[in-house]
Amino acid sequence: MSKDTTPSRRQTWQKDAVLHALGKAQGFVSAQQLHRQLTQHGSVIGLATVYRSLNTLVTDGLADWLVSKEGESLFRDCSHDHHHHLICNGCGITVEIEAKQAEAWANKVAKDNGFSDVSHTIDIFGLCKKCTNK
Ligand SMILES: [Zn+2]
Ligand SMILES: [Zn+2]
Ligand SMILES: [Zn+2]
Repeated sequence: MSKDTTPSRRQTWQKDAVLHALGKAQGFVSAQQLHRQLTQHGSVIGLATVYRSLNTLVTDGLADWLVSKEGESLFRDCSHDHHHHLICNGCGITVEIEAKQAEAWANKVAKDNGFSDVSHTIDIFGLCKKCTNK
């Protein structure tokens, strides 16, 4: 393990480790789950650092974030299958959203117009709750 303790280098190492763990996870995972996985594989990383790294990854658009019905923050590697985002113009936080109606609508519109091999991108931009209340 690196003995380099300059803040920026340490931050990078931890961010990479968290992103790697996120990439291997199946679906959405909590910070606690990721932390457990990282420490099981020998990483010396604190839970608070995992949280901080996850927030940076979400702001950088590398990870998606959502809040479960139980109010728990869950995270996922953004490079997984097709999905949509709510993106904050203030802080850049990226929330994954369900858009089942949009899928049906896009497919229907394409079919009605005789299009095949279609794809789409739907991202919604605005200000998150935190930025709205600033
Ligand atoms: Zn995403
Ligand atoms: Zn925001
Ligand atoms: Zn879609």
